[in-house]
Amino acid sequence: MIEEIAEKLNIPSAQLRELIDRGIIKEVEGEHPHLFRFDKECGAIENGTAIFVHEKIDIVRGFPKIRRAMILDPTIKRHFDCPTVMIEEKMNGYNVRIASIGGEIFGLTRGGLVCPYTTEKARDIIGDAFFKDNPDLVLCGEMVGPDNPYVPKDIYDIPSLDFFLFDIKKKASGASLPIAQRLRLVEEYNIKSVRIFGEYPVNEASAAAREIVKELGRQNHEGIVIKDPQTKIPPIKYTSSQSNCGDLRDGFRFYNDYGRPFFFTRIVREGFQAVEWNESEEELRERCLQLGESILKPMVYTIKSRKRGEQIGENVQIKVKYLETAREFEAHLNRMGIDAVFEEPEKVDGGYLVKIKRLYQSTNDKTMSVLNGELW
Ligand code: ATP
Ligand code: MG
Repeated sequence: MIEEIAEKLNIPSAQLRELIDRGIIKEVEGEHPHLFRFDKECGAIENGTAIFVHEKIDIVRGFPKIRRAMILDPTIKRHFDCPTVMIEEKMNGYNVRIASIGGEIFGLTRGGLVCPYTTEKARDIIGDAFFKDNPDLVLCGEMVGPDNPYVPKDIYDIPSLDFFLFDIKKKASGASLPIAQRLRLVEEYNIKSVRIFGEYPVNEASAAAREIVKELGRQNHEGIVIKDPQTKIPPIKYTSSQSNCGDLRDGFRFYNDYGRPFFFTRIVREGFQAVEWNESEEELRERCLQLGESILKPMVYTIKSRKRGEQIGENVQIKVKYLETAREFEAHLNRMGIDAVFEEPEKVDGGYLVKIKRLYQSTNDKTMSVLNGELW
């Protein structure tokens, strides 16, 4: 078995054994075929790469990191050594890979775990036809909407939770299909896709990108991903100021649980965007105000609510067809080390609504200790 996995991953079997011994490849518990995952990236193999061992071995490569442009020009010209680029919307939800394993559909999250909630949704949203015809392809996309336990967002006019495809990859190699081929499949199997703004000559792309990002920002949407139509060159991402500030608002509510680099990079992005967009004093002042409010207001909110004796946390919710899914999802969050309290399910149309309070213990305790007069 080791030999077969090593061959599929294109690494020596001695190295594979070593990765298992060092705990970089970990076994995953849950209601799915026997599964191992890469807990870190390793050479060419992405973090989150999943290895299913059932009557055969199925490898679903991890979704690669997308590097960020801090300025559009000259970064796009420098990065894309191809005649044109595609500009797509970057949607704000969570990354999902949907694959068929032994004839059943599973939804994987970024780290290579099968998420029971995502799996239920994926089976609902993606019919059987696609995987019957293409068992060796993986649908990569964003799960978006308010009934989203990881990244709840109400900005897309989606009633519950929906899947938007942005990539189709080959299982074991992780190679992406060219964009035109992906769009043909999307059409043929009636799968929703992220919005495609168009194909632009590389020299004209940064001007187009700037206008697109400004418009997306006005709608509080996240930003764009710029791609090589042939998918040979890795894509790059770029986000709106509104989304950077939105992240800061989310982060500072739980200021002691988020890593400091999370805050730092988002503030630096604002600096480069302000300069590249050549802003007037007036516009710069507006940006400063937005940035400052995004940092301070959520903290004030958190400190006040802790002062009132409330637990610091975030209310999220899921809508499931089967109660079993909610139970499995609770176990899944537990395994991920996420601290969450599940309320009793409420019967709603088509299933159950389960409200979940995700606790941020570190921010909770730190805030209390400061309020009690302890030193930082
Ligand atoms: P990364 O490790 O890729 O930098 P991250 O967790 O920091 O990920 P983001 O800053 O949100 O995430 O940017 C990358 C993610 O954007 C992808 O993993 C994917 O889930 C999401 N995404 C949304 N829309 C698209 C799109 N059109 N094309 C590619 N990725 C998209
Ligand atoms: Mg994201």
